[in-house]
Amino acid sequence: MDLKFNEMSMSNQPKEEKHVKVLIIGSGPAGFSAALYAARGNLDPVVLTGNELGGQVSLTYTVENYPGFPEGVGGQELGELFQKQAEKFGAIVEFDTAISVDLSQRPFTITTENAIYKAETLIVATGATPFHLDVPGEVNLTGKGVSYCATCDGWFFKEKDVIVVGGGDSALEESLFLTRYVKSITIVHRRDELRAGAILQKRAKAEPKIKFAWNTVITEVLGNDKVEAVLLKDVVTGNIRKEKTDGVFIFIGHQPNTQIFLGQLELDDHSYLKTNALMQTNIPGVFVAGEAGDSNYRQVVTSAGMGAAAAMQAIRFLEAQNEG
Ligand code: NAP
Repeated sequence: MDLKFNEMSMSNQPKEEKHVKVLIIGSGPAGFSAALYAARGNLDPVVLTGNELGGQVSLTYTVENYPGFPEGVGGQELGELFQKQAEKFGAIVEFDTAISVDLSQRPFTITTENAIYKAETLIVATGATPFHLDVPGEVNLTGKGVSYCATCDGWFFKEKDVIVVGGGDSALEESLFLTRYVKSITIVHRRDELRAGAILQKRAKAEPKIKFAWNTVITEVLGNDKVEAVLLKDVVTGNIRKEKTDGVFIFIGHQPNTQIFLGQLELDDHSYLKTNALMQTNIPGVFVAGEAGDSNYRQVVTSAGMGAAAAMQAIRFLEAQNEG
């Protein structure tokens, strides 16, 4: 066993150095799908779970748009099933978080809280984190009326009154999607002008189910087991009022979890990893899957598909190097 004594783990023990053919950072649908495919390719992949085992889907109450589950499946349960299936074929799951990477040469060096990995290939499946409002009630009521995904949760708000927060393309596009189900939508925006593009603005303003609360922010989400109301503050007058609602959809942007790759992997203007149809990055042997490189679809099924594709590319890459 190689030990590197100048690097110490959290427990002040020297960090163990581990050599792996495929290292996967992230344990959401993309990460576990990649692990399943790489494991079935006999590559003994290691998955670093990060702090959020299962990724964003684990925070979703029920997933009804993942094929194969006609009755729906709990988000957390789906994450556990992904993990179980990958482990069945030999994927190794480490409850560990990558702290830094050195991708300047192969094997790539990934330093985690507990170890140093030397990886022949790397699959980045670190996902993205929706921005939160950071107001009281938001965290407690997530999955109980507070949502960050209309495609996932819109169905549960049939004939309900909901609030959407944000003034960008996502807020308007998701509001238009929600009109299929809900009775009414109030878009709460902190300014009196939308950031979204002109076409979406025109469509949203013409939609009879949508009304706007301008210059307004949510200061608290109220409810015990489910969302019942919000406190709204008019930022011009300072007035606070209580408004009853059945749901709060928050679309104020996403932060892709790509900070540790800065300066090594190419990012776009919104910090998503640049990739192509083959899941490649600018560094041969480093692949990306799921939301870290996808600002467009952001679905469990698309992320899982990208994970499978990234693993297939890693297998082909190693075969081409005669290392598979
Ligand atoms: P975005 O464009 O950054 O808009 C975020 C919105 O949330 C802004 O209106 C912002 O207000 C508001 N906001 C931010 N922080 C807030 C807070 N703490 N409290 C209240 N409001 C807050 O994000 P996005 O809509 O997710 O879009 C991200 C990118 O994807 C954009 O480039 C967008 O064009 C693109 N996108 C495109 C499409 C499409 O073309 N169909 C669909 C979705 C997304 P301010 O306006 O005051 O800053």
